[in-house]
Amino acid sequence: MAYHEYIGNLHMHTPYSDGEAWHSEIADAAIATQLDFVVVTDHNIWIDGVQGYYGDEKRGYVLLLTGQEIHDRTRLPQVNHCLVYNAKTEMNRYAPDPQALIKAVNRAGGMTFLAHPFDKGIDWREDIEGIPWVDWDIEGYTGLEVWNYMSSFKAVLENPLKSVRRLFSPEDAIIGPDEETLAKWDQLLAQGKRVVGIGNSDAHGTPMKIGPITHIVFPYDFLFNCVNTHILTQHPLIGEMEHDADIIYRALARGSTFMSYRIPGEAKGFRYSAQGAQGATAQMGDSIRLGHGVTLQVLMPVRTHIKMIFRGQVVADETNVENLTYVASQPGAYRVEVWREYKGIERCWILSNPIYVEPNIAPIGVTGGESIKKAGY
Ligand SMILES: [Zn+2]
Ligand SMILES: [Zn+2]
Repeated sequence: MAYHEYIGNLHMHTPYSDGEAWHSEIADAAIATQLDFVVVTDHNIWIDGVQGYYGDEKRGYVLLLTGQEIHDRTRLPQVNHCLVYNAKTEMNRYAPDPQALIKAVNRAGGMTFLAHPFDKGIDWREDIEGIPWVDWDIEGYTGLEVWNYMSSFKAVLENPLKSVRRLFSPEDAIIGPDEETLAKWDQLLAQGKRVVGIGNSDAHGTPMKIGPITHIVFPYDFLFNCVNTHILTQHPLIGEMEHDADIIYRALARGSTFMSYRIPGEAKGFRYSAQGAQGATAQMGDSIRLGHGVTLQVLMPVRTHIKMIFRGQVVADETNVENLTYVASQPGAYRVEVWREYKGIERCWILSNPIYVEPNIAPIGVTGGESIKKAGY
């Protein structure tokens, strides 16, 4: 089946919270970098009335939507930043209780993603603290922000001298997403949970001062060329805001999406699908019965390094290939990583969402798709 692919970014800020650029300026940056959609997520506020298509025939168009990033501002140090999409109302009143927030968003037909869950502070900068997720005893959330570019950037500011260099060429040091976050994702998937992964910029456009140097970390257009989320959909976007938002949010809820890092190259064209018994097929985010084995297939438009990951282990690993085939013989979530060299170092280029291979007889207690069903998808 042919799918339509769209690239977007789902985490950024305006002056309504702690960002520097207004919605129309963000739209300009998104058009300049050829994103198809962006979702602006200001802290603890939902901005209505700015959603829609921006641009013109000459430059192209981008769909700008608004979500929220909710946390309890009275709790110090800061923890538990939660990205909220498609709730259609402000959710700040649930900020003190993440589980209540998740439930309320699900009731409203929206989605929740735990933002930068293993974010760390900078040892030599007391003013820059980590904002991790700490309350893991929650359920019903849609997914994790597996790769947050600004969080990755903070992680490579090991000392003041290195940091000055990193300000001007962050791409030298950034290899892939945070390993603890990936391990947590794999752990949750291995427990039989459905957890959608997204990759984002967390753009603020804020000036950062290191010694005598002040530099913007980073302009929105720079960040839109770094970590993004691609959606795959059977139905194309048609240029009509509500219709297209629905398509994007459905793909996101289902997990028919993948994350890409644009610095090593444009990642369009990645495809990952499965074939099972009696003509059954599945793509990212779908479930498929194990039967006598499910054939998982990865297709890339260029030769590259492809890995199949199951329960946190690499179960297939091929370099310099355009495709990879793996026959899954055990139930569970299978995800794909694609790596590519940039500036002499292999970097994580693509992270797929999993295909869920279901046991032939479902064990008691594993239902799957909980939050998806609740959200009406
Ligand atoms: Zn945050
Ligand atoms: Zn943020």
